[in-house]
Amino acid sequence: MSQTSLFQDDTSQSDAPATLAAGQVMRVLVPYPVDKAYDYIVPPHISVQAGDYVCVPLGNREIAAVVWGEACGEVNAAKLKPIISKYDLDPMPKAHRDFIDWVANYTLAPRGSVLKMALSAPAGLTPPKPARGFCLPHGMEDIIRKGLSPQRQKVIAVMADGQTRIAAEIADMASCSAAVVRGMADKGLLEEVSVYNPAPCMHPDLNAGRADLSEGQQMAADEICDDLENGRFSVSLLDGVTGAGKTEVYFEAVAKAISMRKQVVILLPEIALSNAFLERFKKRFGCAPALWHSHLTPAQRRTTWRGVAQGDTRVVVGARSALFLPYKDLGLIIVDEEHDPAYKQEDGVIYHARDMAVVRGSLGKIPVALVSATPSLETMLNTWEEPYGTGRYKHLVLESRYGGAQLPDIRVVDLRADKPDRQCFLSKTLVDAVAEKLEAGEQSLLFLNRRGYAPLTLCRTCGHRMECPRCTAWLVEHKRSGRLHCHHCGFHNAIPKNCPSCDDIDSFTACGPGVERIFEEAKTLFPDARIMILASDTAESNEEMKALLAKVINNEVDIIIGTQIIAKGHHFPNLTLVGVVDADLGLKGGDLRAAERTYQMLHQVAGRAGREKDKQGTVILQSWMPEHRIMKAMAASSHAGGRDEFLSVEAHEREVANMPPYSRLAGIIVSGREESLVLDVAKALGKTSPQGMTEEGYLINTLGPAPAPLARLRGRYRYRLLVRADKKINLQKAIAHWVNGVKVPSTVRVYIDIDPQSFL
Ligand code: ADP
Ligand code: ZN
Repeated sequence: MSQTSLFQDDTSQSDAPATLAAGQVMRVLVPYPVDKAYDYIVPPHISVQAGDYVCVPLGNREIAAVVWGEACGEVNAAKLKPIISKYDLDPMPKAHRDFIDWVANYTLAPRGSVLKMALSAPAGLTPPKPARGFCLPHGMEDIIRKGLSPQRQKVIAVMADGQTRIAAEIADMASCSAAVVRGMADKGLLEEVSVYNPAPCMHPDLNAGRADLSEGQQMAADEICDDLENGRFSVSLLDGVTGAGKTEVYFEAVAKAISMRKQVVILLPEIALSNAFLERFKKRFGCAPALWHSHLTPAQRRTTWRGVAQGDTRVVVGARSALFLPYKDLGLIIVDEEHDPAYKQEDGVIYHARDMAVVRGSLGKIPVALVSATPSLETMLNTWEEPYGTGRYKHLVLESRYGGAQLPDIRVVDLRADKPDRQCFLSKTLVDAVAEKLEAGEQSLLFLNRRGYAPLTLCRTCGHRMECPRCTAWLVEHKRSGRLHCHHCGFHNAIPKNCPSCDDIDSFTACGPGVERIFEEAKTLFPDARIMILASDTAESNEEMKALLAKVINNEVDIIIGTQIIAKGHHFPNLTLVGVVDADLGLKGGDLRAAERTYQMLHQVAGRAGREKDKQGTVILQSWMPEHRIMKAMAASSHAGGRDEFLSVEAHEREVANMPPYSRLAGIIVSGREESLVLDVAKALGKTSPQGMTEEGYLINTLGPAPAPLARLRGRYRYRLLVRADKKINLQKAIAHWVNGVKVPSTVRVYIDIDPQSFL
């Protein structure tokens, strides 16, 4: 419908008085990068309340938006357009609208941009078209059918509950193909009916695979369930080594929430985790959870979004964006691997999903469980009692590994003493250990968090380094593809024959190792071993990755060479040795959280070793600085206190340096294609930046501008400023006031990153 015809058709428009009272005019927030909610007239045939999903005209488009409240004061009706229609859906709950306002205020992102994350599948606003569904013909369930194939019998068993399901769902539940289901319908064994594509995860079975919890597990679960029952906001840190039984504990709380007809969201840092996790969930609850991540099909997004908004979908397992779905009645939030850096969204609305989960919990009066074997310092600080911490979070600790599997034995190899051969990267100690495991028929993991063959390609003749033409970054050689890749922007090209600088032929040499190079070395050392690389670019698809992981589990591989993709969540029963090729890797670069991150990563990788009861795991860390406190802490972490010792030292260092979590930071990133314009804006910001003591006597200061470590990214020049403030300061207010005062040309962008995690 065009704009003009819309107005001509709408009788309320022509008869409208010059001014309208509140109630006849509503504020509507649109999912566009604007902060303001616009006023719209409510036509007489529509009745709306705050939270309703509506269609409104904007410019010459018609868009889905949300009613935010009544218009304040008198408005001039002549300038306003009417709401076109209301969608047939329950309103977005107030807690969720408050959440959107809160996130926008905190991150300094426009409210409309935050709303867009909630309206992430607008197709879900309208009901889907009916699909082919199947149910058991009446009376059929009692007939025991002779001669039916086991597959068909399984389908009958699944459908005996009388529900109507689509072929894919039945196939999933009966572990057969959809063709089996359709074949049965052709034979009259199933009746075909038309159904609306059901929302995912509508009927989890609370007792399908319930474990008998240990006493410690039960106590932890009770703490969360108690808050759930009483509609209380709380944050619990569920803390315990890998395998301690944390997942089983929060599943108990999930079951409780479902039994109360509430919805649950389980956040996971990466989709890599979800294959193993999905199976686990299915075993526990008899059906798959609803998934939410960036690789869903439009149809999946649509049904899941609608299921969530209508309250039919009980459990969502998803990446950080799942937190923003408009749950009709959210009752519990789980943040698994709460320390994971992947919870930080670095573009668009820049937010930390773990922190925002706590906010969502508080606004909705619901318990939040943060789960980790290596909690972040921020979270730990909130569990420590005053004066060491804030004492705001409950600390639920699961002491040992469930079922008594041993913690691995951790050794640090001093690479200065036990030096690998030239152009090699594995020490004798590590090579011997791998050989021993091969002998014993057990698996080894060589961990190196670097894809490709070599991180740097250098001309031996003139020293020229191969760099990305668009980024301040070296190109990484990938032997398999025969190319040089930029890991920042995706740029790649063939490895040139001649050096672009001195034109010498075949003068390139590889510096440093990536997983492909370790593969080569391992192949030379153990020519008969079955060796596999596992990195994010090893598999083309999720299915392929699944197949590779299955090979590891089925013992078809002896040595795995892997990046962080393998560090998390997986359980490889026959893996008893983990060798960390470069334990110092994460310590370079001087990041605020470098030590903490390295510790978490090493700890997590170490947790892959010896997860079975009867097998002792060994972890070997290769380091050039074994005296570093991280290496010491790792070596000590075979005993329980090691981690906490490390964390208290880390806390002390941050406190002395007046760094987060003892102060607050904000990063300001100025970027653009024309360096002089970027620099102008950066300098102007530098001139007016907040410095010194506030009126209330709190300290705030700003460093920079300086070129960012990644001074060019995708062809854009980047400058950074860093604000540090006492925790009592209203940082957002100070920054908004400051940044809004500087004129920015349209080709330059200024990003504000509150609580930055990355300093690149
Ligand atoms: P975490 O989440 O701490 O790594 P999990 O919950 O995954 O630990 O538990 C580790 C293993 O022990 C899993 O295979 C899980 O099924 C099993 N497990 C945990 N608790 C129990 C229990 N109470 N009864 C039986 N098996 C359990
Ligand atoms: Zn690049």
